[in-house]
Amino acid sequence: MQGKMMHRPLSIMDILKFARDTHGDAEIVSATVEGDIHRQTYRETYTRVCRLGQVLQGLGLGLGDRIATMAWNGYRHFELYYAISGIGAVCHTLNPRLSPDQLIYITHHADDKVLFLDLTFVPIVEALVDKLPKGMRFVVMTDAAHMPDSALDLLCYEDLMDAADKEIVWPELDENTASSLCYTSGTTGNPKGALYSHRSTVLHAMMGGISFQNSLRCGARILPVVPLFHVNAWGLPYGAPMTGASIVFPGPKLDGASIWELMENEAVSSAWGVPTVWLGLLAEIQAKGRRPHNFNEVIIGGSAAPRSMIAQFEDLGTNVCHAWGMTEMSPIGTQGNLDAPLSNLPLEDRLDLKMRQGRRIFGVDLKIVDDQGTALPHDGKSTGELFVRGNAIISGYFENPEASAAAIDGEGWFGTGDVAAISPDGFLQITDRAKDLIKSGGEWISSIDVENMAMAHPSVANCAVIAIAHPKWDERPLLVVVPADADSFDPAPVLDHLRRDLAKYQMPDDVVTIDALPLTATGKVSKMTLRERFADYVLPDLRT
Ligand code: AMP
Repeated sequence: MQGKMMHRPLSIMDILKFARDTHGDAEIVSATVEGDIHRQTYRETYTRVCRLGQVLQGLGLGLGDRIATMAWNGYRHFELYYAISGIGAVCHTLNPRLSPDQLIYITHHADDKVLFLDLTFVPIVEALVDKLPKGMRFVVMTDAAHMPDSALDLLCYEDLMDAADKEIVWPELDENTASSLCYTSGTTGNPKGALYSHRSTVLHAMMGGISFQNSLRCGARILPVVPLFHVNAWGLPYGAPMTGASIVFPGPKLDGASIWELMENEAVSSAWGVPTVWLGLLAEIQAKGRRPHNFNEVIIGGSAAPRSMIAQFEDLGTNVCHAWGMTEMSPIGTQGNLDAPLSNLPLEDRLDLKMRQGRRIFGVDLKIVDDQGTALPHDGKSTGELFVRGNAIISGYFENPEASAAAIDGEGWFGTGDVAAISPDGFLQITDRAKDLIKSGGEWISSIDVENMAMAHPSVANCAVIAIAHPKWDERPLLVVVPADADSFDPAPVLDHLRRDLAKYQMPDDVVTIDALPLTATGKVSKMTLRERFADYVLPDLRT
């Protein structure tokens, strides 16, 4: 027997309409590319989004068309998110840090019709224009006064807005209509597209809202440092208006000092981003002698949060929520907030728990499997590849049957490529990306574990552990360190410190220093680049 309830399609535009009606005065604050601080409420934003919908339709765009953006976190980018999916088109966010070849591949694969870009990125487009899809049009996200001189035929965002009507009748869309598209990066081979739908996006926003209640609530002020050009900024442009939280967009300046100032001036209560960004902010907090005054919670994800970083934030009175997810998961899979009685544990025990990646959020199922695909127990000890299932997880990649078939197992679960253990009380512990694990004499070494321990030594500002080929052991770990002080750095005390906790076979064979770790387009340490850079490195026991 079927239930007898209405079936209303889940729709992204309904989130903004709800924010207009219920949280109309909550605001979107943006540090802009042009250099000022811009403010508008959700009520004003909705009106502008209606105009923008008219602009897009006026450009001949509609159902299923892919519309690309190359922009920082700011209000115009937010408006595009809603207006594009509102007319039934697909918002394809381009990561400006990708290589020219990747950008060319992606824009052709997606068949983008129009590109909306921030002023910063005009030179990138000028350099690539001949290789971008034929007929592509370009709209610069600025006003007439700031339009650049360019050989390109550029349209001006605010001119188009001024000329448009503000009344629009949004089409009623099937909830499975595609809404946005984001390509994965940092892997070998061509990038693969995750194509989100209205349904998956609205459900993900609801899942995030109930999982991050300290941060996503009416009256909160959220700083998404995580970019709008990467996995919809972890869903914040949807989760914040749905819960009534205001958003503070940082624009192009992501250094510690700029982030500190913005957080202080705008009373940011919760900031979201990858560990690399927080290294910069913590340095600024140390220099200033205090944290921004309203900074209650930091959400750290995208890479493992080191124990020393978690401890520093907790020491400041800022709650750390360590989260894990993937582009293919919209992206949130787990979150690490501790509720009672765990929140009452002594600090060291809490840090042990917070170093793990937290527990699954509602709507995400987790399993770990061995090499034969057999499910392993959640006993905290068994490690295997992590598979996931849920309504906001891809069922395949955009127009890529081969990669899709490889990603999904016979029972419909998506293989993450992460290696993990799950404890009986549900805490996920990511050991490594499968390709970053180090196999030495038949034993696996977790690069994340060794990095965490090395980061706790005061002379190590940042580090990464990579595998170096070895004729006897297959692979041995090399510790690559960015020293806190390059002139006085001595590897011996760091190795002594590691020896306290690591088994002999887990100890790095050598330590090398480097000025800065190479980063991927999404701000994570690029171990692929490091492995290439040290491909010919000869370990001490092999030197003649
Ligand atoms: P992306 O799709 O670019 O967001 O990358 C997803 C990958 O980042 C995951 O499969 C993990 O390998 C890694 N990742 C994300 N969050 C964490 C975390 N909290 N700890 C460790 N690795 C993480």
